[in-house]
Amino acid sequence: MAALVLAAAGRARILQLASKANPTWYPVSSFSSSSVPTVKLFIDGKFVESRSDKWIDIHNPATNEVIGRVPQSTKAEMDAAVAACKRSFPTWADTSILSRQQIFLRYQQLIKENLKEIARLITLEQGKTLADAEGDVFRGLQVVEHACSVTSLMLGETMPSITKDMDLYSYRLPLGVCAGIAPFNFPAMIPLWMFPMAMVCGNTFLMKPSERVPGATMLLAKLLQDSGAPDGTLNIIHGQHEAVNFICDHPDIKAISFVGSNQAGEYIFERGSRHGKRVQANMGAKNHGVIMPDANKENTLNQLVGAAFGAAGQRCMALSTAILVGEAKKWLPELVERAKKLRVNAGDQPGADLGPLITPQAKERVCNLIDSGTKEGASILLDGRKIKVKGYENGNFVGPTIISNVKPNMTCYKEEIFGPVLVVLETETLDEAIKIVNDNPYGNGTAIFTTNGATARKYSHLVDVGQVGVNVPIPVPLPMFSFTGSRSSFRGDTNFYGKQQVTHIIKQEQHGILSSSNGLHHSPN
Ligand code: NAD
Repeated sequence: MAALVLAAAGRARILQLASKANPTWYPVSSFSSSSVPTVKLFIDGKFVESRSDKWIDIHNPATNEVIGRVPQSTKAEMDAAVAACKRSFPTWADTSILSRQQIFLRYQQLIKENLKEIARLITLEQGKTLADAEGDVFRGLQVVEHACSVTSLMLGETMPSITKDMDLYSYRLPLGVCAGIAPFNFPAMIPLWMFPMAMVCGNTFLMKPSERVPGATMLLAKLLQDSGAPDGTLNIIHGQHEAVNFICDHPDIKAISFVGSNQAGEYIFERGSRHGKRVQANMGAKNHGVIMPDANKENTLNQLVGAAFGAAGQRCMALSTAILVGEAKKWLPELVERAKKLRVNAGDQPGADLGPLITPQAKERVCNLIDSGTKEGASILLDGRKIKVKGYENGNFVGPTIISNVKPNMTCYKEEIFGPVLVVLETETLDEAIKIVNDNPYGNGTAIFTTNGATARKYSHLVDVGQVGVNVPIPVPLPMFSFTGSRSSFRGDTNFYGKQQVTHIIKQEQHGILSSSNGLHHSPN
């Protein structure tokens, strides 16, 4: 009952803020000279205006209008945020696990109640369709629900009688201050991969959302506060490289969760690890779908279209590369026909299947990669470069694009495109397809489409890729399993969510019986 009352109170407060700060949920600055809404910092339980003189514009990708500004936090602000994390840690770590669990039970309820509002913010800042934005929140919500099972996840281990009169116990204890650095493509899901699991285990958290899409994180922070998280347990700073370097170097930060590009991830992994931090880094991808001629054609083509072009291809698990094996190559014209039917529009427009790319620079990069395909001998079967969206002529739109006759040495194959572009290769055998997948440096996700169980088993056992789908195009694990990744797609030892994300140190105790004999006890070592 108490939880329901709190949840209702939380919602009322959010709605009030939303109407004040229309059209975006940013607590608007009182001393900014500009009328553009500014994103605040969240330090020690307060949404505070930054005193920075360096600000970054936030654009609506469907129009390129400036819709807000985010600060590059000053050193003093970042220090204050870590200090708040550090100050609140002992009390939070000592708070009973049941009380922490209750806060996250209330949190999952508040996220559900505000799901549409969070999704609206995502569409505004990131551009994806409202349906995709709701999916973004929903997948993050599932991690919060998983975090609520902390009472099982944090169980330690015991071993009685490791010697005649001695037992051994291990505990999982929180690490301290942890930090998260998020990308632009999942503004709700990825922050929710990070702070809920760390915090429910008793850690405090410093979050740096992507500077392009901070709105969802701000609203999620407000909802966590409304759920009862004590002041200082979650803090939010904004910025780019300086904020990232600050996180990598700060001696009070014990662990870093990063999701984003390889360029940033390799750097953060190296710099954070050098300072003794535990770093997990989920990075780029080139996900292959292998289509066997015995696959169910209807389902496979539908799934390919959704997985390659959905969310405008700006998903780390987008199925961006198809390998057509043997006779499956005859399906290509039909694949093109289906892709042509997708509706490209602003994400908040009814019926939109895919929205714009995040920035004009992203659009230019994607178009250049398509150009490279033509120059290097591939064929463009469907070309989305010149698309015009009525009423949104300034948006960063690229329509579904299919490039065939692609070879593994071509630039459009080697680079992660991160746009609505499917590159298509052909092989005669499954073995050749497996070799292509394993020779590619990335190992994030892959899928095989087949009706043959032996083929599916062979593929899933031989490919060196983190997530494998059998007739499932985007095999993102549910949060009771970990999101993995191999080779260039991941750095670190512990994966996101599942049992591995229990952010802890293991403390070991050995209990012996005081002996009246000679006082020596016998160690098993
Ligand atoms: P990005 O690397 O540009 O940005 C991610 C974060 O790092 C941001 O907070 C940004 O401020 C910071 N950053 C950016 N460049 C930096 C640099 N040179 N040094 C230090 N910090 C830097 O990534 P993005 O464009 O926001 O996201 C897209 C990328 O994320 C794609 O490569 C995609 O595959 C990857 N991604 C991976 C997963 C996964 O689970 N493997 C999930 C989502 C996205």
